[in-house]
Amino acid sequence: MTGKETNPFENFCTQISNVSQYIAEEHQKYLDILKHPQRIYQVSLPVIMDSGRMKIFTGYRVQHNDIRGPTKGGIRFHPRVNLDEVKALAAWMTMKTAILNLPYGGAKGGITVNPKELSMRELEVLSRRYSSGIAKFIGPEVDIPAPDVYTTPQIMAWMTDTYSMLAGRTITAAYTGKPMEFGGSHGRVEATARGLFLCTQYACEKLKKPINGSVCAVQGYGNAGFNSARFMSEAGSKVIALSDSKGGIINRSGLNCQAVLEHKQSDENHSVVNFPDAETITNEELLELDVDILIPAALENVITSENASSIKASIIPEAANGPITPEADVILRENNKLIIPDILANAGGVAVSYYEWVQNRNGDHWSVEYVDQKLQRWMKAACEAVWGLKEKHGVDMRTAAGILAVNRIVDAYKVRGIWP
Ligand code: NAD
Repeated sequence: MTGKETNPFENFCTQISNVSQYIAEEHQKYLDILKHPQRIYQVSLPVIMDSGRMKIFTGYRVQHNDIRGPTKGGIRFHPRVNLDEVKALAAWMTMKTAILNLPYGGAKGGITVNPKELSMRELEVLSRRYSSGIAKFIGPEVDIPAPDVYTTPQIMAWMTDTYSMLAGRTITAAYTGKPMEFGGSHGRVEATARGLFLCTQYACEKLKKPINGSVCAVQGYGNAGFNSARFMSEAGSKVIALSDSKGGIINRSGLNCQAVLEHKQSDENHSVVNFPDAETITNEELLELDVDILIPAALENVITSENASSIKASIIPEAANGPITPEADVILRENNKLIIPDILANAGGVAVSYYEWVQNRNGDHWSVEYVDQKLQRWMKAACEAVWGLKEKHGVDMRTAAGILAVNRIVDAYKVRGIWP
């Protein structure tokens, strides 16, 4: 495995190159545009820590492409956040919003920080300082951030409040993924996992491999991971292994997802590890388990050319962004694995973020039933469009999803033109 293999933005560019042969010759120039993010902001964020000492953090906001509308994408707090990662995550957002036909482009933000080392006060100050640092460059018609790894509805509330204070009026549509008490939408918390479940159900029906009775493992037990495990389990899949940043657990008779969540949330544990009635495994071992469905729901580059041939699951819905490198993708395809790509599988999150933005802009409030029905219809339409292209061109789902996204982006360039 090379360093290049794990550079997420290089991986995005490889994915775009893989799609190019299915794009008309005269439209190839637009692919080059996608390999260059439109705007990149870097902000330095001084914070007075509880100790009284000042610490300077670095934050990013990348607006990858806005040809189809204002840019949209989450904010990640993680020690490994770097510009190449944020560029890739922003680019995947451009693809994702196009696949769902949302009137958006793609963006992403992040701060290089381990939020677990911060007190609640420090976390709030850092969140507000970041929001003020990017305030000039975002807005409901410009770029709308949302949560991602280690950012929460509470953090979105602090950021929206800061943005609103600077503007002198409350602007809820500036951020999505907010708490219900402050402009949030029903269904947003579980939206990513619900979308992933709908895609998995669609693929399982196509392959005639029912979810009911299947065996499943999930890596990462946060918003995307927990809710995915819960939906799989509710549909009759036996969830035998779960993990988080501290390690994994396995019980071949099946795990109770809610009980594992409560164990992780307790003050003594802060992890799935040491859950009673389960054995400990590593994150690496979890990926190679003999299961039907493997859901990577943590970070990028966990399946690489080094472990791809040891993956046994036949269906891999990507809840995380970029968990499989392009080199690993080739190996998995040769081994007849069905990968439901991130840009389709985890797009439910941005779909319901869009619903939240629409409600905020219209002063409206939709019921959870309405949100869920709408999400179900939109995810089905996206799955059908991707599956149709997969069959038409005889390609894998990632390439098909890429063809769909790129063609929609090209269509927008064709009518708008390249100014001046
Ligand atoms: P989260 O912060 O809620 O949870 C992250 C989980 O991953 C935690 O359980 C953490 O312990 C675990 N984790 C961190 N490092 C790990 C490691 N090295 N190995 C195993 N587990 C590890 O984050 P989330 O929102 O669930 O995001 C998870 C993934 O889903 C990310 O790739 C994110 O980009 C993607 N995603 C999230 C959303 C959303 O709406 N939240 C939408 C689309 C995609």
